[in-house]
Amino acid sequence: MRIAVLGGGAAGLTAAQELLRLGHQVLLFERSGHLGGQLRTVDIEGTPLECFYHHIFTNDTIIEGLIDELGLGEKLRWVPSRVGFFCNGRVWDFVTPADLLRFQPLPLVDRVRLGLASVYLQRQADWRAFEGYTAEEWLKRWAGEQAYRVIWEPLLYGKFGDAAPSVGMAWFHWKMRLRFGSRRGLAKEYLGYLEGSFGQVWQRLAARIATLGAHVYTSTQVNRIRVQDGRATGVEVPPADTAAMGEAFAAGLAERVGESAFFPADAVIGTIPSPVLLRLAPELPEGYTQLLAGNRYQAVMCMILVLKHPLTDIYWLNITDRAMPFVAVIEHTNLMRTEDYGGKHVVYLSNYINREAPLYQASDAEVFASYLPHLSRINPAFRQDWIEDWRLFREDAAQPIITTNYPGKIPPLATPISGLYMANNTQVYPEDRGQNYSVRIGREVARLAAGQT
Ligand SMILES: Cc1cc2nc3c(=O)[nH]c(=O)nc-3n(C[C@H](O)[C@H](O)[C@H](O)COP(=O)(O)OP(=O)(O)OC[C@H]3O[C@@H](n4cnc5c(N)ncnc54)[C@H](O)[C@@H]3O)c2cc1C
Repeated sequence: MRIAVLGGGAAGLTAAQELLRLGHQVLLFERSGHLGGQLRTVDIEGTPLECFYHHIFTNDTIIEGLIDELGLGEKLRWVPSRVGFFCNGRVWDFVTPADLLRFQPLPLVDRVRLGLASVYLQRQADWRAFEGYTAEEWLKRWAGEQAYRVIWEPLLYGKFGDAAPSVGMAWFHWKMRLRFGSRRGLAKEYLGYLEGSFGQVWQRLAARIATLGAHVYTSTQVNRIRVQDGRATGVEVPPADTAAMGEAFAAGLAERVGESAFFPADAVIGTIPSPVLLRLAPELPEGYTQLLAGNRYQAVMCMILVLKHPLTDIYWLNITDRAMPFVAVIEHTNLMRTEDYGGKHVVYLSNYINREAPLYQASDAEVFASYLPHLSRINPAFRQDWIEDWRLFREDAAQPIITTNYPGKIPPLATPISGLYMANNTQVYPEDRGQNYSVRIGREVARLAAGQT
């Protein structure tokens, strides 16, 4: 079969690899000029770094397997991470039970209650037990109103904005369980990072699929999935007059249709956000379009700061002060060595946000100016002249909003249109989105499209 894959992120690249393994021909289309999607990188002091912070957990075994398969295993570092909270104007360590007992923003009785609720969540293996509850309901009831208000409410609002009250407890439970599962003993959480960035995985995979014969078209946005008699028959991309399209015409892979090129295919796999699929395939019947329309996302803005001095000694700092315009400060060089980045300290300021919010629409300079005053609250010694460089990245479909009773809201990988498939982060459940699951779903959709499952 000839199969068109839309999207050159983790899911699209792994779907392409699986299809090639099964002996099919692959045409891969990526809208942007680079492959990797949300795992794209930027050069920081000579070393590639993810535009959006990334690490993996010890239970992310699928991506670990791919890293090994691509010959990158020696670069994978498992490092104890330091997690903290910025709360009541100061930084608190938050990894061990002793840290929790020292966490003064909560009365002692609430610290104990929070600890017990966390142990319960960690031990409870069945996420279905939490279906039907929102995270807010469950956490208020079992960890206590006070713990919810001081810890979870700011984090849920920081990540999901106004959708926070609808976030499902089953998703929250599984996220906690996977995170706790990345501990060795009670005292240490281990996180994995690939020296030189995870971008290497996606570059190597892209090179491998090209070697295996995939036709990869970057800077090529699919703007229509063609459907005839209830069956996907190929994709249309404009404009037709580029060198790459010229080669595709010459090779008999595409036909000119006015200003566009039409690539006939036996099946089409969209590893693109749900609203994009909705737009590209208006023939999708109502039941499925309702599921797609129900897939909602928060966007993200990640600012990377390159600093002369460390901001804190914590890797992952949760911000519970809702007056601050970011929800986490992730100091990458408290996980990896500063030497990898020319001796500089690299910090992400992560802000999940609605795409329509004025700040998301603001210029980079305005965002930078709005963040600046908050940094000296985290570290009073901080001065603007510590900043040697900064960048800002935005991603529209960054975090799916996972609500209660979510399984019934997940669009199936096989759409009702014969030969049309979809695989994206909204279909990952009960786990949180992550490259591990993008690989899993990419392989799964490929096998489905190839008729192997
Ligand atoms: C802020 C942030 C932090 C994260 N942190 C972690 C982490 O710590 N650990 C972890 O494992 N994972 C993390 N993730 C998740 C991980 O990055 C994603 O799970 C993964 O990258 C998703 O891959 P994908 O292929 O499903 O989607 P994407 O990477 O979004 O790929 C979809 C691709 O489709 C392309 N596209 C869209 N429309 C079209 C079109 N019409 N035609 C052609 N192409 C199109 C897009 O340009 C894009 O490249 C994080 C994500 C974000 C945003």
